[in-house]
Amino acid sequence: MRALRKPTYLSRLISCSGASTIRRSSTATPVIKPLTSVLIANRGEIALRVGRTASEYGIRTTTLYTDPDARSQHALSSPYAINLGDPTAYLDGDRIIEVAKREGCEGIHPGYGFLSENPTFARKCTEAGLNFIGPPWQAIEAMGSKSQSKDIMTAAGVPCIPGYHGSNQDPQYLKSQAESIGYPVLLKAVKGGGGKGMRIAKTPDEFLDQLASAKSEARNSFGDDVMLVEKYIIKPRHIEVQVFADKHGNCVALGERDCSIQRRHQKILEESPAPHLKEEVRQDLWGKARAAALAVNYEGAGTVEFIFDNDTGEFFFMEMNTRLQVEHPVTEMVTGEDLVRWQLIVAEGGKLPLTQEEIERRISERGAAIEARIYAENPDMNFIPDSGPLLHLRTPTPTSTVRIDAGFVAGDEVSSHYDPMIAKLIVRAETRQAALQKLRAALEEYEIAGPITNIEFLKKVCVSPAFVAGDVETGYIEKYRDELFMREEIKPELMAQAAIGLLLQESKKVKSDPLYSSSGAIVGFGAGYQQREFHLIEIPADGKGDSTTTAVRVRQTAPQAFDVEVNGEEFINVTSNLDASNRITSFYPHTRLSTTLIQDEDRLMLFQQGKQYRLQLTMPKWAEKALGIKDVTNSVLAPMPCKVLRVEVKEGDEVKKDQPLVVIESMKMETVIRSPHDGVIAKIVHGKGDLCKAGTALVEFAEEMSS
Ligand code: ADP
Ligand code: ADP
Ligand code: MG
Repeated sequence: MRALRKPTYLSRLISCSGASTIRRSSTATPVIKPLTSVLIANRGEIALRVGRTASEYGIRTTTLYTDPDARSQHALSSPYAINLGDPTAYLDGDRIIEVAKREGCEGIHPGYGFLSENPTFARKCTEAGLNFIGPPWQAIEAMGSKSQSKDIMTAAGVPCIPGYHGSNQDPQYLKSQAESIGYPVLLKAVKGGGGKGMRIAKTPDEFLDQLASAKSEARNSFGDDVMLVEKYIIKPRHIEVQVFADKHGNCVALGERDCSIQRRHQKILEESPAPHLKEEVRQDLWGKARAAALAVNYEGAGTVEFIFDNDTGEFFFMEMNTRLQVEHPVTEMVTGEDLVRWQLIVAEGGKLPLTQEEIERRISERGAAIEARIYAENPDMNFIPDSGPLLHLRTPTPTSTVRIDAGFVAGDEVSSHYDPMIAKLIVRAETRQAALQKLRAALEEYEIAGPITNIEFLKKVCVSPAFVAGDVETGYIEKYRDELFMREEIKPELMAQAAIGLLLQESKKVKSDPLYSSSGAIVGFGAGYQQREFHLIEIPADGKGDSTTTAVRVRQTAPQAFDVEVNGEEFINVTSNLDASNRITSFYPHTRLSTTLIQDEDRLMLFQQGKQYRLQLTMPKWAEKALGIKDVTNSVLAPMPCKVLRVEVKEGDEVKKDQPLVVIESMKMETVIRSPHDGVIAKIVHGKGDLCKAGTALVEFAEEMSS
């Protein structure tokens, strides 16, 4: 079935199985025109990723950067690097086209995010004579709207979720539509992406509030707040199909990916093949995905996303992403192909390198692959993004089955201007179970100090029994919250080692800087060695916590020997040494422990046996009193670096617990800061438009309020 040249290809396709390469009728045979230079209109790991393949095939790459990105890895990766200045300039299509022409680039690779799904940009590139490495702008436009695309899919026989995606945007009318669809419903920005502009309305009572909130987020993120309403599937899986089409009319599916493990409607773990999927459903999904691509005369790489109803076994078209996807390496692992290479081949006018049959054979031989997205974010605080310098970075060793796609090296800054993804870790093994085990082991080797990351959380998901069994759904994290967010006690040996490490690091510093001031209370000297007391507290991951302080007394008895007392428990004659990479190796009577200790002012980050621990050096209570340091419990602090979007209260207002106080924006995400307790607002410290550092007071309460 290699040549389906009939104009009625669509009806044929819908019934076809996934087994053959599909061809659509094509008008003229395209001319092959090799690319020799490409501008990469993106940043971070995807810019590096594209650059790697382009260079491998002798294509000159020009990279773009902005002021905050001037020293970033992608900016340094090519001898041709152009500064666009303003942090938002990656979105300035006209300027980027101008740069491409001036620099003599033939093609533009948009990566993902930014301009990758902007039909106006794609069109302007084409009109400027540049080879846009992506689908024709008409296909982007057709799929760019979550409403229009559903009309096209319905016409092409691809099942869509019941819902309203029309033009009447009157809130009451939308509410009446919700009524007829039946609650719960999902509100989505038709121009939306990245999980933004989406809200669930569980009951008619909350419909209008949720609508307002989705619209506001959509306006801020996409400059458009047109909404659609659809049935909310209660137990869904996210399954997507990687498709590829060339200019010769060939279209193939490169397998599916299950991306059900999500937070804030955004993926964090993606795998292929999708676990427990019946073969006929798999084939049906592939067939429908190709039908979707062909319905818009697709070319290049695309992903057709489906929502799979775990309760009924039905699946529905959700949207098509007309670009390469963040999780494309999963597919590269299970097919053994370089998808950026495929994109270049298609853009040059070449034919797809493999047929559907060849792809299926590959997939059946190459086992399972899984990707973990490593983000600077705090899972315990609703996955709030973090930023800042990467003080320490150690990664697992890449092999043919362990791959790391990262945009950073140690010392780089995770900027609050952009997406907080630090890296992607992708592994492959013969079976899903073996892949999961490999992923967990690799995550245990991953050490990042500086911004808080989701690595510890990802490790917990890897061993979560239902996930291991392949029982996935998009609400997984919520459903298994208790298990995934369980806290473990810190062992006294770790506290002891932190204290020994501080002492060793300090004596190293003192040797080189006599004016260096120490961070613990000096409680005595003996035989030329120090005796010190440190007060350590586990940094409460959820920002609240009631961690108690642990007093650790450490006494050096020889250059490498220490007696330590942790909350009354004694460890005598612990020999310890510190190496150049901040690793402390200690021989306790019963065990040897090696721990990496990174200190950032009063914060300590420790890595031991595949786990990260975060501690804070606190001042003993008596010292705090003596210095007159007062608690700031009367203020509500910014949880991350942010911009104040709105202040919802005025000075003198009486507020209730959980009432919205301030709406902030950070890394393109809106967060509502709610009142921690009932009280009276004494002062608005920061107003609309202010940029705040993490820990800055946003509003202050009047005194004597109880919490
Ligand atoms: P995917 O389905 O591939 O996860 P998303 O819709 O989540 O697609 O967006 C793709 C990626 O593009 C995001 O994960 C993010 O890295 C990047 N991205 C999207 N929007 C922006 C933006 N405004 N600024 C920076 N990066 C962005
Ligand atoms: P985005 O463009 O932001 O990626 P999608 O439409 O692809 O938006 O949806 C993102 C995620 O939201 C999906 O992966 C899924 O988890 C969830 N989702 C989307 N539509 C529904 C629905 N109708 N019912 C339940 N969950 C949904
Ligand atoms: Mg999506």
